[in-house]
Amino acid sequence: MDQKQAIWIKDPLAILADGAERGIVVRNGRIAELVPAGREPAIAGAAVYEAAAHVVLPGLINTHHHFYQTLTRALPAALDRELFPWLQALYPVWARLTPDALDLGVTVAMSELLLSGCTTTTDHHYVFPAGLESVVQDEDTILADSERVVARHHQRGEDAMVQIALAPCSPFSATTSLMSATATLAARLDVRLHTHLGETEDENRFCEQIYGCRPLDYLEQCGWLNARTWLAHGIHFNAAEMTRLGRAGTSISHCACSNQLLASGCCPVCDMEEAGVAIGLGVDGSASNDESNLMQEVRAAFLLQRARYGVGRVSHKDALRWATKGSAACIGRPELGEIAVGKMADLALFKLDELRFSGHGDPLAALVLCGAHRADRVMVGGDWIVRDGAIPGLAPLWGRGGEGGKTMVPVVHPPP
Ligand SMILES: [Zn+2]
Repeated sequence: MDQKQAIWIKDPLAILADGAERGIVVRNGRIAELVPAGREPAIAGAAVYEAAAHVVLPGLINTHHHFYQTLTRALPAALDRELFPWLQALYPVWARLTPDALDLGVTVAMSELLLSGCTTTTDHHYVFPAGLESVVQDEDTILADSERVVARHHQRGEDAMVQIALAPCSPFSATTSLMSATATLAARLDVRLHTHLGETEDENRFCEQIYGCRPLDYLEQCGWLNARTWLAHGIHFNAAEMTRLGRAGTSISHCACSNQLLASGCCPVCDMEEAGVAIGLGVDGSASNDESNLMQEVRAAFLLQRARYGVGRVSHKDALRWATKGSAACIGRPELGEIAVGKMADLALFKLDELRFSGHGDPLAALVLCGAHRADRVMVGGDWIVRDGAIPGLAPLWGRGGEGGKTMVPVVHPPP
């Protein structure tokens, strides 16, 4: 690997790490040193990035999304509906998805996520438009396609960080044989498994009617109840089921905004964690959020879970932990989600110079409580991908507007 000059991210206003009061040194894509109070870096010759105006977080990790849905937000036909009728309203629209629209949706989602401080994301994709029917039949095609997109956006890009997981939409939209074969294939290829589960009470009723058991029993019968699997939502599990999830090492992507918008319920996050279940955060598809802003999702999860469990059990630091270390556990990437020596240099730096932060006391708490919305700087694998709240290089995509000349890509500043 080429040796890159080390960067000292110096004297941050605040940082989500202990013993790094004077910042961190990044080298060759990794965090090489934490610099404690009163000290200078041991690594000599690092370039200095002055971070006195920045709050530094580990890059946020999004564990559940459907990128194509960024093109169908706040659709009138889907407003004020719960999950099943909401899906019925949207499926005819999604059936008209084209490869170009999908490409645009991916660009929008990844840009929006990056600007919110997200450095690693999943895309649970299950709608394949005409022209892309065969894409999942060929592992090389998937990887080439994913790498092309990731290369464009630099999210966990450079050193081939694209990771494939097998992810049928839900156990109730796939056959039992497909679910079982998917688990077998995942074990053979050593990849992770992902699907929606425990999202609504309707789902419990449907499963009992069709299969004569609860959704988690069915998942287990299909060979999915293991440490490869992370599940989106996980709202409607009982205490015994949470214990089984914890014992199996299955983790949960908590999607607070989506769950509130569709009135699906509230994931029992603290009970889950007590049962040994790792909790990550997901923005979910933009038809049920309707934004792809992971920092806002941190705030939503914090508020929702605090309302459920009280001030003694949920702090802003818990919500940040779910979006970082917890999310890294969901996707099986222990090298991510933490500012510690040896971890990937994925960082999100926020400034507190917006009106929304006026009068703030604790800078870390202010990010969550005052509603930080946009990162000023984002580093992925040691490279600055967002600068001054913008993505350099995104400008050439500006002209690719939607129908009626409406711009469907984010409005960003031109590169310096
Ligand atoms: Zn979803």
